[in-house]
Amino acid sequence: MMVNIEEFILNASILITIIYLSAFLHKQFLVNLNNRMKVLIFITFSILAGWSSMFFGIHLGDAVIFDLRFIPIIIATLFAKKPWHIVVVGTGIGVLRFTFGISEAAIVGFINMLLLSLAGLLMNKYLAQWSFVKKIIFVSIGLNVLNSFVIAMLGVFPLQDYLRSIIPVAMPMSITLSLFLSWMVKDLAEESASKKDLLEKASRDPLTKLYNRRAFMRFYEEYAMEKEKCSPLAVSIIDIDFFKKVNDTHGHVTGDLVLQRMSELFTENLRSIDIIARYGGEEFVVLLPHCDHGAAEKAMERIRAAIEEETFLVNGLQLQVTVSIGVATSLNVEMEYLINAADKALYEAKNAGRNRVLSYEWDNIGKEQLVKKVQQKFSALENHIPLNK
Ligand code: GH3
Ligand code: MG
Ligand code: MG
Repeated sequence: MMVNIEEFILNASILITIIYLSAFLHKQFLVNLNNRMKVLIFITFSILAGWSSMFFGIHLGDAVIFDLRFIPIIIATLFAKKPWHIVVVGTGIGVLRFTFGISEAAIVGFINMLLLSLAGLLMNKYLAQWSFVKKIIFVSIGLNVLNSFVIAMLGVFPLQDYLRSIIPVAMPMSITLSLFLSWMVKDLAEESASKKDLLEKASRDPLTKLYNRRAFMRFYEEYAMEKEKCSPLAVSIIDIDFFKKVNDTHGHVTGDLVLQRMSELFTENLRSIDIIARYGGEEFVVLLPHCDHGAAEKAMERIRAAIEEETFLVNGLQLQVTVSIGVATSLNVEMEYLINAADKALYEAKNAGRNRVLSYEWDNIGKEQLVKKVQQKFSALENHIPLNK
């Protein structure tokens, strides 16, 4: 009695397609999805894979039909974040067996899925410390054997068929397929994780963990395109006062620690929708959507005061540091001038004695006036901070 190889390949292809589709969605659209949604998608796809497998039974001879609906339980056992997810997958596949009719075989199928997922739950829990290779082999063989054993015990197949076709033919094939599919899921999951990691690294500054300049410019351009959505928009530039002196007196390592602690203070004193980035050296930029002139000034004043009041405890030293901040707000003015306007305000804050917030409110003046004002100061700006280069 032989396995119908075409049906086996068809059934395996359904599983491969669903696994690939899920990985594709994760990589393209779901990289930054919250964990809850990811779990929901993982469970849904696992149940869908088990259900689809039932549509394409593999004939083992004349009377015996076999399918691979238990393979998603193997995958769930290996990759589920929480053990109970496996039971949800098993129960889901078991319940969907009834869409093919309510019969004794369906009840047996349901019980089988439940038992397999409970076994999966135990394996997930107790084999957590094992290496992946050991786990993948144990779980694939263990659940395949258990599946065959349960269906034999529950009397789905006559013992003769069981001994002639399930054990010598179907089981080795499905064990091999289980190993291959688990390996495939592992590879796809690693690829997706490393894409997320790379995206994250490419947009963060390694020292402060704030966004870097590249990420900031991306947000800035995005916001500029959707002006109505984030208007009024404010931009501020923060520059540490006499930071060179901190480095010269206490060394660069101390300077770096001050930058790190200061970055935490920025984050603590801003809203979660504000984008804060390290623009370069000891300069930071903040993008404040839905923030009018008064609110932006207030937020920056809060940051300035928080830093003035903070005693930086670094490398066994107690340091006091201050910052100067330039703010510009836009309601009806082209965004491309905002950074320059904020930088101009910063330049004047420095000239006016440092440790202060200065702002430009462009809302009520025309674009030409603004351009002229910015251009007047432009040469000075270029000498001061090489912005927009
Ligand atoms: P002010 O802005 O008040 O005019 O004076 P300043 O001394 O802060 O200004 P300036 O821009 O001339 O100096 C910036 C200094 O910041 C130069 C450099 O020593 C320091 N700096 C820039 N990036 C880093 C960094 O990543 N780590 C450390 N420790 N220092 C940095
Ligand atoms: Mg500077
Ligand atoms: Mg400085």
